[in-house]
Amino acid sequence: MLMEKRDYYEVLGVGRSASEDEIKSAYRKMALKYHPDRNPGDKGAEDKFKEATEAYEVLKDPQKRQTYDQFGHAGLSGAGAGFGGAGFGGFDLSDALRAFMRDFGGFGGGSIFDEFFGGARSQERYNRGEDLRIRLDLTLEEIHSGVNKTLKVKRLQACDTCGGSGLAPGASRQTCPDCRGNGQVRTMARTLFGTIQQVKTCPRCRGTGEVVTNPCPNCRGEGRIAGTSSVKVHVPAGVSSGNYMTLEGQGNVGRNNGLPGNLVVVFEEKEHKIFTRQGNNVIYQLPISFTLAALGGEIGVPTLNGDEMLKIPPGTQSGKVFKLRNKGIPHVNAYGSGDELVQVTVWTPTKLSAEDRDLLQALNRSPSFSPPESDKSFFRKLKDSLGF
Ligand SMILES: [Zn+2]
Ligand SMILES: [Zn+2]
Repeated sequence: MLMEKRDYYEVLGVGRSASEDEIKSAYRKMALKYHPDRNPGDKGAEDKFKEATEAYEVLKDPQKRQTYDQFGHAGLSGAGAGFGGAGFGGFDLSDALRAFMRDFGGFGGGSIFDEFFGGARSQERYNRGEDLRIRLDLTLEEIHSGVNKTLKVKRLQACDTCGGSGLAPGASRQTCPDCRGNGQVRTMARTLFGTIQQVKTCPRCRGTGEVVTNPCPNCRGEGRIAGTSSVKVHVPAGVSSGNYMTLEGQGNVGRNNGLPGNLVVVFEEKEHKIFTRQGNNVIYQLPISFTLAALGGEIGVPTLNGDEMLKIPPGTQSGKVFKLRNKGIPHVNAYGSGDELVQVTVWTPTKLSAEDRDLLQALNRSPSFSPPESDKSFFRKLKDSLGF
């Protein structure tokens, strides 16, 4: 722990009027330089990392920054400082690591992780949290408009008791006696070709090089426990079943404050009551009356954008498809949308009054009411208009 607190602005090397972005970028630089994973065993670097993180935690928060500007360190150690009552005396390395992961692990994850963990050692691989996969059911309306969702995700979270360290209060990590901290052990194996030496991950410490003799009772030393979290996701318009989205750092947290895994959200389209999706077109089956088909007219048709009026020309045959341009699903990675294809079916009346029957029988005597004997062009046209 630092005996005397330095000025937070001085710690981050920024002026007192520095913008939020300047503070953030100054901290990011320092955190990357002094992060314990880059400076194993270097106590000086560890202190600098903690100091910078503490300074950043205050200066990034406008309210805390104002308090600090007005009252200095004294203003933050008292009640109401907003640090969970722990004050800064209790701001230890695991707090600093968690604060760092929280602010820099969640977004732009790929780049900073790559920069940071260029060559992942086996320990980091072991400690990294698992990726998780979750299915998200969407209605066609949600797919059409795009939607923000909050997912309930069952995942491993940092253990509250030990703050993710996996250690019982007062306990510490020790170098694994089996591999002397290497994380790897050599064994002799007998094969057909004689005895050969093999190198494998140390089974005792599972490659971490360290053992915990007195693990945290809450998480049994893993530093994480099962829980449920809310994760927000923005689904863009136009996705399809089987499309997925990777949310960096939203999977299981890592063992002992290791990197979190990712959360893969796989989309699944729910069946729609009246529309069928075909690519980005939606198909709608519209029954129309025999008189509308024969006389022509207008009829209201539902679309994903609300009702539209559709013109039915006189003499419309059953099966004819009408296109409502751009009333389908938006293209997910391009401008524009698919169409709505309205296929009409001429509905035949099933209950006739005596009067109806007389009228129809009178019509039936007219030659225009019989279909043509073998009008090939008529059937070809009909087939073409179906389009599928
Ligand atoms: Zn624990
Ligand atoms: Zn070992």
